[in-house]
Parts: sequence; structure tokens; C-alpha cells
Amino acid sequence: MNPKIGVLALQGDFEAHRQAIKRAGGTAIEVRTAADLESVDGLIIPGGESTTMLKLLDAENLFEPLQNFGKHKPIFGTCAGAILLASEVTNPAQPSLGLLDLTVERNGYGRQIDSRIANIDLEGKPAEAVFIRAPIIRRVGAAAKVLARYLDAPVLIEQGRHMVATFHPELTKDDRIHRRFVEKVEAHANGESVR
Ligand code: GLN
Repeated sequence: MNPKIGVLALQGDFEAHRQAIKRAGGTAIEVRTAADLESVDGLIIPGGESTTMLKLLDAENLFEPLQNFGKHKPIFGTCAGAILLASEVTNPAQPSLGLLDLTVERNGYGRQIDSRIANIDLEGKPAEAVFIRAPIIRRVGAAAKVLARYLDAPVLIEQGRHMVATFHPELTKDDRIHRRFVEKVEAHANGESVR
């Protein structure tokens, strides 16, 4: 199969995700409306600016449809997308979809070191992680599986059917993380138990 992966295309870094999904064997579809959501098996919420995305979700009446989608289908949130998926957001607090039991601190690395490329370990092999005004995950729920860490904090997490990264996996040529999500969506669409 070629699972249909939506990319929320309201704002931010959706084009690079589209390319990465294609490289990882999925069909990429831009999602802008609740009707678009109905045609996809899984969704990526890209990086960008989470407060701006929240405003746009509100303007497009997409907040609730997205929340309902996530109750049944896999979502992968990267950077601002991770902030939107969390159950609690700090620095400052703001509303979120609450689909993963996580506390996320916005702009956790501070302004001085806005952005960096770091080397992380991804399941025994090195990977490059691009952080851009990234959040820090301060707390994970008991169901979270931490797939990678940087400076002691989790930076890639799987929780049930969802995934979260605080960095930008779409900006490197390494497609392992997108492939993992595409496979997860495919398994979920085939009714295998990924919850
Ligand atoms: N700092 C942004 C926010 O708080 C996230 C940055 C990103 O997605 N690269 O929404």
C-alpha cells in the first residue's frame, strides 16, 4: 500500500515534509480543511509558529476536527506541531490539542542559542537533528516511548499511535523517522494494533 499522509498546510514547513513523505514511500496530501482530513490515513503537523497555527486552526474551524482525527488516526507533530499535540504547554501557557500526555516548554533552549544542528543517537545509529527555536519536553506520560534524547531531554517520542519530535526531521536526507511514521500509518490503516 501507499498510505495517504496529510500535511497540515496552514503555515510553516509543510513542503519539506511533503518531499520527505514521498521519499519514505507515502502519498503526501496537503490538508487545509476538515474535508481534506477525511481523505488521509495519518497526518503530520509541521514546524512553524504554534501561536499562529492556533489562530489559523481557529479561523478555519479545524481545532475540533483535528482533535477528533487524532482520537482515531496517527499524527506526527514536529517542533510547533509537537507543541500543538501536547497536553500542557508552558513559557507561556497556551491551548493545545492534548492528544499526548506531555508537558512542553516553548523556546526551551532560549534565544541565544536559537538554532543548532546536533548529533543524536537514533536506535543505535547516529542522526543529525536540526533544532529551530525548539521546545523542550519537560515531562512525558507513562505510555511514552522515548526514541531519542538530546542533552538528557527526550526529543523523539512515540505514544500509542502518535509521534512527536522537537526537531525537524524533514530538513535532513535521513528518512528513517518519516519511514517509521509512514509504516505506522500503514499498519494502523490495515487494522494492526498500534492503537
Ligand atoms: N518556537 C516555535 C513555537 O513556539 C516553534 C519553532 C519551530 O516549529 N521550529 O511555536
